[in-house]
Amino acid sequence: VPADAPKPASPQIGARLARVRQRDTAAELALRSELHRRGLRYRVNVAPLPGVRRRADVVFPRARVAVFVDGCFWHGCPEHVTWPTSNAAWWREKIEGNVRRDRDTDRRLEEAGWRVVRVWEHEPPGAGADAVERAVGRR
Ligand SMILES: [Zn+2]
Repeated sequence: VPADAPKPASPQIGARLARVRQRDTAAELALRSELHRRGLRYRVNVAPLPGVRRRADVVFPRARVAVFVDGCFWHGCPEHVTWPTSNAAWWREKIEGNVRRDRDTDRRLEEAGWRVVRVWEHEPPGAGADAVERAVGRR
């Protein structure tokens, strides 16, 4: 949770924010374990581009594939984003800023010859792993 985040408007929102972690989320761990089960080996939490502080959740350096597991709330999932009504402008700017940054990250990586795979937190790990396998050229 960002340091300048407004006080949560309700205990429900507060509880949700408390569950948010920047790395090693349940969805990331599930995807990683599925990839590992399929025999894929990768690096975790790596910034693929030198000098660019954007970390991918799962990275295949040789295949040049960067995988991001995007949390539905923070990354504005069209199916699950919920806009807090309290401090609405702050939250909208925050989430829309994250989405813009994601697209900018994609563009920078693609320009540098990387393939980007984005997996939503809500997707079953098997579906995410299928997309990763396709990107690394295994199927
Ligand atoms: Zn979602």
